[in-house]
Amino acid sequence: MTVTSTQARSAETATTVLDAVIIGAGISGMYMLHRLRALGLKARVYEAGTDVGGTWYWNRYPGARVDIESQEYSYSFSEELEREWKWSERYAAQPEILRYLNHVAERFDLRRDMVFNTRIASAHFDEASNTWQVATDTGEQITARFCIAATGCLSVPNEPRFEGQDRFTGPTYHTGRWPHEGVDFTGKRVAVIGTGSSAIQSIPQIAQQASEVYVFQRTPNYSVPAHNGPINPAVTEGWLASREENRQLQKVSRAGFIFSNPGGLLATQTGDNERREVFESRWAQGGFSVQSAFADIGVDPVANAMAAEFAADKIREIVKDPETAEKLVPKGYPFGAKRLCVDTGYYEVFNQDHVHLIDLRETPLTTITETGVETTEAGFEVDAIVFAIGFDAMTGALSKIDITGREGLSLTQAWAEGPKTYLGLMITGFPNFFTITGPGSPSVLSNMIVSIEQHVDWLTDLIGYMTGVGIALIEPTLESQNAWVDHVNEIAGHTLYTQANSWYLGANIPGKPRVFMPYIGGVGAYRELCTAVAANGYMGFKLRRA
Ligand code: NAP
Repeated sequence: MTVTSTQARSAETATTVLDAVIIGAGISGMYMLHRLRALGLKARVYEAGTDVGGTWYWNRYPGARVDIESQEYSYSFSEELEREWKWSERYAAQPEILRYLNHVAERFDLRRDMVFNTRIASAHFDEASNTWQVATDTGEQITARFCIAATGCLSVPNEPRFEGQDRFTGPTYHTGRWPHEGVDFTGKRVAVIGTGSSAIQSIPQIAQQASEVYVFQRTPNYSVPAHNGPINPAVTEGWLASREENRQLQKVSRAGFIFSNPGGLLATQTGDNERREVFESRWAQGGFSVQSAFADIGVDPVANAMAAEFAADKIREIVKDPETAEKLVPKGYPFGAKRLCVDTGYYEVFNQDHVHLIDLRETPLTTITETGVETTEAGFEVDAIVFAIGFDAMTGALSKIDITGREGLSLTQAWAEGPKTYLGLMITGFPNFFTITGPGSPSVLSNMIVSIEQHVDWLTDLIGYMTGVGIALIEPTLESQNAWVDHVNEIAGHTLYTQANSWYLGANIPGKPRVFMPYIGGVGAYRELCTAVAANGYMGFKLRRA
């Protein structure tokens, strides 16, 4: 079947006919739609939420904010957009980012090709017609040549699985599904379970209202200060004055933001005083710059221990009660191997009398009762529980859709041992099915928006090429996929990242295969590879004419 670029919804079959179906109206789905439209394709976005925004639509918990500097965490594709939008803070908070994404949706008139309140339930590749047959949970049937998963890496909340949780009579919240109307904790006793980025951002905010806050910590995380504040207009002007250069620097950088390139120094070859000075200056600068202070932190256990010791000293300096401080010091895994958190007043909050830290390693959580949380040692009566327990990362959203490729191969089967892709973009056996920032690409190890733009631009070029020269189908060869999976694993194995039980490895979800999912080779190197693959006639892919 040839799919034309004009929308056709056949009255007989009530099937919506598209060139491309895009799943998700977050940052990637929005930009993908914009680019495909410019190619003259009929594309449409389907989104479970009521509006655009993806992660910034769902994660409305108090204190939610980006931890890459605002200008760097913004679309680069339109210079006009970039010049007309003014960020107010160094690290923008969720409401401002959502306003920005709404502005983008309006400015580029995106909503007219978006369907909200609708989940994609299934996507099956039909070999007879070379199309994807897609069904929504509202009963709409769609046929499309291309199916693009813009489903996000951290979009499916990790479900609470606590003994007795249904008995609790007060309200419970998940940071990743926060009520739109907000929550007033004034005078309430609140339990927060989890101490990842979401908890670390929200606890200081919750503590401003709550009468008591009980923080249930299983594993302490490393967190560095954001030093957030209003953006100095001179900084914005400076960024815009060197816009081209800055955007180029992001593209070739290690993690998609300018400060992500490690300095040339090695911690192990730097004298004690100088090393301390470098760490101090990075700490004073704030954000992820501490992680890239030395080139060997991520790979050499000795260098890593130096960074860990520096961070531990900071915790001991900030937290007045030595026992609490000691509980907050991470132990047993390398610095940065679980995603580093960037906070505003996290460690400081434990100096307030009404904030209590419960170490679940010492006293495991046994049950949730009608009125609170119990550990092996004590019971904590609370009015509300906040689950800040993270996400089924990188594969969660796709595993919730019934996806089958050629010969009825289901994605669940194909990924039974963990996700396998070529370049994080495509999967063998699933022709014309694309994963934006999929597993096997830098994605969560980078400034997401830079990686999203790179994938969308690459896919747009590919789809434009296919349409132009009459290629009907593309899919990676099994050999190229296997080689890529090996490469992803091999370079992860050279780092210390695999030594922590992190969500990068799926370790937070019971039964999930332990596989390091993102590509750790760096944003710049990865981009070069993708560009070379395209320049060499889409090397590693099979292309078939209609
Ligand atoms: P997370 O990093 O996975 O943290 C979840 C927390 O819940 C961990 O402390 C975990 O402990 C704990 N937990 C999970 N199950 C538990 C259980 N059964 N009992 C007790 N504790 C349990 O999730 P997140 O904080 O939502 O962050 C996820 C990612 O989202 C971040 O790493 C980051 O990439 C992104 N994020 C970004 C920002 C930002 O950019 N500003 C903000 C928030 C989130 P264990 O460590 O022991 O498993």
